[in-house]
Amino acid sequence: MQQEPPARVYHSRRHKRTQRQKWVALAVMAGAVVVLFITALIIGLVRGGQTPPVVSTPPESTPPPAPPVVSSVAQASSVPPLPPRTPTPWDEDGIPALYNRFNSIPDTWQPDLTPAGGLQMDRRAAEAYTAMAEAAAEDGIALVACSGYRTNWEQTNNYNNAIQRYLSQGYSQEEALRQTELYYAIPGTSEHEAGLAMDVNDANYPGARIDDSFADTPAYTWLQENMTRFGFICRYQKDTTDITRIAWEPWHYRYVGANHAEKIVELDVTLEEYVDALCRAEGLTPPESDRIFGRDNLNADAGGDDTASSADTTGAQVPPSLR
Ligand SMILES: [Zn+2]
Repeated sequence: MQQEPPARVYHSRRHKRTQRQKWVALAVMAGAVVVLFITALIIGLVRGGQTPPVVSTPPESTPPPAPPVVSSVAQASSVPPLPPRTPTPWDEDGIPALYNRFNSIPDTWQPDLTPAGGLQMDRRAAEAYTAMAEAAAEDGIALVACSGYRTNWEQTNNYNNAIQRYLSQGYSQEEALRQTELYYAIPGTSEHEAGLAMDVNDANYPGARIDDSFADTPAYTWLQENMTRFGFICRYQKDTTDITRIAWEPWHYRYVGANHAEKIVELDVTLEEYVDALCRAEGLTPPESDRIFGRDNLNADAGGDDTASSADTTGAQVPPSLR
């Protein structure tokens, strides 16, 4: 038997307003505490982990130093030290490069193209992918590399073709652009153009496509359990579209280095949030973003909802090579 709801009490307007102000103040304080805690946790973990030697990362312009806003928070927090981790051959020095609609690939970046799964990636990513595919094969998992490095011309072509495809399906110009950009990075900003991402399928499931159904394959399960050892993350998660601006892509794996990949997965954060926190910890200006830790405004229409799911279905009609 359910309890009777409490009798409703009507307050004066002033009392209501005061109550509302109290709740708003409480909500703001709670939000601030959560943000500071997550930031301090990331910084603590980043500093707590060992930083193993040495690998090249894509060149990035060195931003001017910024006031160390967060470091005092990190010092004030008591983050328990992590147990030391064993370095892997796929650990990477430095802050991972962040490419998204706000951060283009520098013109100076030239991937050192190396074969990977019959395609090409930047050398470090290619070597890690090859090692990962071999380890998967030993476990009976046959990874298929579907899309690795792309030229800017290819990315531009894919992007424009996708817009045309949505237009031909009856989408308005605005909606066609919006749907396209949920799945296709703006040319000049794709991790594929940087040679750091691979789209993957499962060869043991010939019917499997580069769409949401990949998440049902043994290859996907294996990748979730093993990808970080080889420095990869599943870059675009189901519930992160409002930050990454890309829909859920269970098939898209980005090389960041094993040390970073492990932390990103452990903290359950996006690469955007992770790089933001690292930059702040180093006193560097964080990369451009419209929504990191509540900065600026959230565009609620960015996806990550049912609209994104229906777009997945449409996107599933795209041949793997065009992703
Ligand atoms: Zn991809």
